[in-house]
Amino acid sequence: MATLILPALNQPDHEITTPAGRIRVPGQRIAEKRVEIHDALLTGLLDAARSAAAGAHAPYSHFHVGAAVVMADDPEQRIITGANIENSSYGATVCGERNAIFQAAALGFRRIRYLAVSTADSLDGPIEDRSPCGICRQVINDFARSEDAADDAIILIDTAEPGVLCEALDIERLLPHGFVF
Ligand SMILES: [Zn+2]
Repeated sequence: MATLILPALNQPDHEITTPAGRIRVPGQRIAEKRVEIHDALLTGLLDAARSAAAGAHAPYSHFHVGAAVVMADDPEQRIITGANIENSSYGATVCGERNAIFQAAALGFRRIRYLAVSTADSLDGPIEDRSPCGICRQVINDFARSEDAADDAIILIDTAEPGVLCEALDIERLLPHGFVF
């Protein structure tokens, strides 16, 4: 069993007074989260995301992405995968993260517990090169929330950095001040 610890963040609002009025820079307050996850599930999620990238259809970008989700409200806790599918219109392209989440949603599940993302053959570089795009962040946000914030979705980002298994984020860190309807 591994314990993921996401540290608390306590950044107060900041205000700037200008002749035209006050401008607020919103802070961020996130409670510490401790998440217990079985080693087998952790490696299973990352392996599934890497394997799913083999199904990517990326003739334009040649950027292959695989994603794997486990839904909190799935009693079987199955790993559901997706890959990016590009389209000749470009605009109809769907990312791997959304593909996996929508497949899980189509099975009737609504709350992500874990989401693993792997850019498979392009794992070097900063997290910005490997983490979900803005559209996917909003989609994750819509399926990430639980009644208890401690049960919110955990996002695992695959990396090739030696000795590092993955990077872990929660939705507040992945999409600060995300829109909630
Ligand atoms: Zn995306």
